[in-house]
Amino acid sequence: MNNVALKDLLNNPLDLFNEAHKKRFSLYGKNVFFAKNIHLNLTNICIERCGFCPFARNKGDFDAYKLTPDDVVLKLKDLRWLSEVHITSGLNPDLKWKEVLKILDSIKMTLPKVTIKSLTAVEVEFYAKEEGKPIEKIIEDLLDHGSISLTGGGAEILKDDMRKRLLTKKTSPEMWLKIHETAHKLGLKSNATMLYGHFETFEDILDHLNLIERLQEKTGGFQAFIPLKFQPLNTKFQHIKPATSIKTLQVIAISRLVLSIPHIKAYWPSIGQDTALMALWAGADDLEGTLVDEKIMHEGGSTEPGGLSDESLKNMITEIGLIPVERNSIYERV
Ligand code: SF4
Repeated sequence: MNNVALKDLLNNPLDLFNEAHKKRFSLYGKNVFFAKNIHLNLTNICIERCGFCPFARNKGDFDAYKLTPDDVVLKLKDLRWLSEVHITSGLNPDLKWKEVLKILDSIKMTLPKVTIKSLTAVEVEFYAKEEGKPIEKIIEDLLDHGSISLTGGGAEILKDDMRKRLLTKKTSPEMWLKIHETAHKLGLKSNATMLYGHFETFEDILDHLNLIERLQEKTGGFQAFIPLKFQPLNTKFQHIKPATSIKTLQVIAISRLVLSIPHIKAYWPSIGQDTALMALWAGADDLEGTLVDEKIMHEGGSTEPGGLSDESLKNMITEIGLIPVERNSIYERV
């Protein structure tokens, strides 16, 4: 579908949602994926301090933290029902690469059946620089220590001018794509996000989607695309009004129509449970997960709970006429 046709559909939201739903339904019927997962953030100390980030702290702030392998084991040992551990963290020079790898090992020892999805491309670049190693080596380390997928974070909008406006100097668009391409070549699956609801135009969204789609056509390594609604609280852009539900549904539907990435997530801590359920009829097929104690969206002002039980997720899905299907990090059925 070309950009003109997509723009036409934007002005006819119900047609847009129907088109996206048709494509999603042809792939999965009524199935909706979800994971029994936890989002672990190993540290909130970050030397980058992006203008849009509500999560990062400076070393020495009263609520700054860094988890040790023992802390992680303590956190996970009673969560034997988990099937996925998702890990992203701040860029903290005091969290050494060998500690990160030790944490991956200890997760596998504590919960041998979970699948691990770990680190953003931004963290991969950070540790490659910290360790003086090529990106390939960092990715191989992740594979060797039990991670089977990269998270999708750090993409925001893959355009230099957008990164300038969002006040971030982290990983360039070219490097973000290069790291994911390298991961795919080395056998690590990955995901991609998009931060919307700030300064971006519809053209920016299309440019972002098209860049990711081009890489997907080349490697086929992306598994899920996750639109993230900008949460302004505790950021440099508190004046920005969060995107409406209609805008969120438009973004999700357009993402489904442009991308051949198999899964589009309705990430409920970011877009809200109600909108997430509507999104499952507008192109999304994954309600993400239980999460346990999600932090990043909540620091930005999300009023959703920190986590949901798998029973709640399943009920939410069945109550709108769809079928819950539990998945792991690489969409194998659990
Ligand atoms: S978005 Fe990531 S890199 Fe930027 S300040 Fe937040 S944690 Fe650090």
